[in-house]
Amino acid sequence: MVTGGDGDDRRPTRRLLLRSVGVAGSLSAVSGVGSFVRDRSFDDSDGDGIPDETKQSTSFHRRLRSIFGNQFGGLEVGRPELLLDVRYVGDTSIYPVTKRTIVDLLRTHGIHAQWLDYPTRYDAETISEQYGGTVKNLLWGRNSFYSEEVENALKNVALQLLVVPGSTATSDEGRIYSHWMDAAGGGVDGYVNGFSLGNRAVVADREDRLEEAALVLHEIAHLVLCHDNDPENTGVMGTAEEVDLMDHEWEQFRNGLDNVRDTTGYDLIFRPCLWEENLSAVLE
Ligand SMILES: [Zn+2]
Repeated sequence: MVTGGDGDDRRPTRRLLLRSVGVAGSLSAVSGVGSFVRDRSFDDSDGDGIPDETKQSTSFHRRLRSIFGNQFGGLEVGRPELLLDVRYVGDTSIYPVTKRTIVDLLRTHGIHAQWLDYPTRYDAETISEQYGGTVKNLLWGRNSFYSEEVENALKNVALQLLVVPGSTATSDEGRIYSHWMDAAGGGVDGYVNGFSLGNRAVVADREDRLEEAALVLHEIAHLVLCHDNDPENTGVMGTAEEVDLMDHEWEQFRNGLDNVRDTTGYDLIFRPCLWEENLSAVLE
């Protein structure tokens, strides 16, 4: 979802959200979440979720180089990394200046980001036939685009960002449908500009450069950050007047890079914002 300039992010009620993810009746099943939501069984000296061993692995480096070519500049132990694995459906694109802006912003704030355009463009019709076009079809669930198309080697080390044409079936062109947001009363009849499940996200293609930059940074920032209602927050998680985050949000972002990993296999439920804004309050 995206807030700010788009003005379509009516906050769903907790009950509706829970019902829409199917956990309203089984909260006891997740009440032990705190104990296993973080898996620290590997060395990750810089806290970015990419194990030191992976960073040192020459075969891993070769694999990324074979997929992304020279866009991949290597990983270093001791340097917080964020790999952005960006995949395009149909004739979508992201402006080069948006890529640069986002990478520069992240690097300025101590996160060594790498924008990695996935080399193969997906055919829009094939994707729509094979998976369907909703947020759910693309990001989660069995046989979703994410589960079928993303290489296992990339799932827990990179944030996948999917750029889709957006629906043309309705007047909501340029958006994508989310059952979840529809049930929760958010978005325009459930149509949203973008959606994030933390370590994976989707955005609808944008023609306006600034709108695109704000939307893409917003969904990337959801890796760690939630929406902020504070009118003083002029960044993309607040009023979106600036393509930026607030200082305290940058700090949070740096400290939460390990969200790039799936830690439970049920990360839909444990998406940080859903957890913080909704579930934790219910469980108290
Ligand atoms: Zn959002």
